[in-house]
Amino acid sequence: MHFVNAKGILTGARGVYGMNIYRGCTHGCIYCDSRSTCYHMPHAFEDIEVKRNAPELLEQSLRSMRRRGMIGTGSMSDPYMHCEKDLQLTRRCLEIILEYGFGAAIQTKSDLILRDIDLLEEINRKAKCVVQMTLTTWDDTLCSMVEPNVCNTRRRVEVLEEMHRRGIPTVVWLTPVLPYINDTMDNIRAILEACRDVQVRGIICFGMGLTLREGDREYYYAALDRHFPGIRAQYVRNYGNAYVLPSPNSAQLMECFTDFCREHDILYTPDACFGYMQEFPASFEQLSMFG
Ligand code: SF4
Repeated sequence: MHFVNAKGILTGARGVYGMNIYRGCTHGCIYCDSRSTCYHMPHAFEDIEVKRNAPELLEQSLRSMRRRGMIGTGSMSDPYMHCEKDLQLTRRCLEIILEYGFGAAIQTKSDLILRDIDLLEEINRKAKCVVQMTLTTWDDTLCSMVEPNVCNTRRRVEVLEEMHRRGIPTVVWLTPVLPYINDTMDNIRAILEACRDVQVRGIICFGMGLTLREGDREYYYAALDRHFPGIRAQYVRNYGNAYVLPSPNSAQLMECFTDFCREHDILYTPDACFGYMQEFPASFEQLSMFG
């Protein structure tokens, strides 16, 4: 882990913003796209870059903004990875988001987010908060191979349940689905049923498959060799160096996914899910003009 003073913290415009307090991640997911060389990370992926001045930068930005909106975090690195436990930078940024009346859309795989549930509840009461969890693998043993350094899927579902109990809406990322590993009907159905039981608002799924590119691919293949001997050869044979690797079961799994979501009134197109997460309550925006 190393510390830097960043020049800026927020990206985006017109009420939809993004923020990454950390760079790199210690959760060890074998398929992580953020490892790809196209992101030009100048340090090892697990040597986390900590933007120590993130709270100050965020406060400066929010103070000068005329339009409130949703602030998303977690797209490139998990805001609740291990170092957050002590550093509490995500927590401090949430306090600032609350203070300035913005909304938050947080994506994580970690149950550490429960530490901040009071804050999330407050943000949701004052503006809007959406908690997003990624669920890929229902089986505990398989999950510990695919996402080794973070709590398992069942625990993440418990987190979603607790969020729902507190009135905080949730969205699940059902991605990636790994060919020949977790691309089974049993796995997808178990995740969908858990989502229904804890009443998630939407499920984001870009297709039943995986993407791989330089940097990410090498790491993934090394993990396949460790945990799933022989599968790498199947990948090389069937996909070559393709960026998109659809599961051979993609059509049936997608049909199951869309039918299930329609039946249970769960948002399931990426547009609908992102639209829901990015929408900032108009009534609050009007009030805030006079606030
Ligand atoms: S939690 Fe997200 S950023 Fe971290 S290793 Fe896993 S996929 Fe990558």
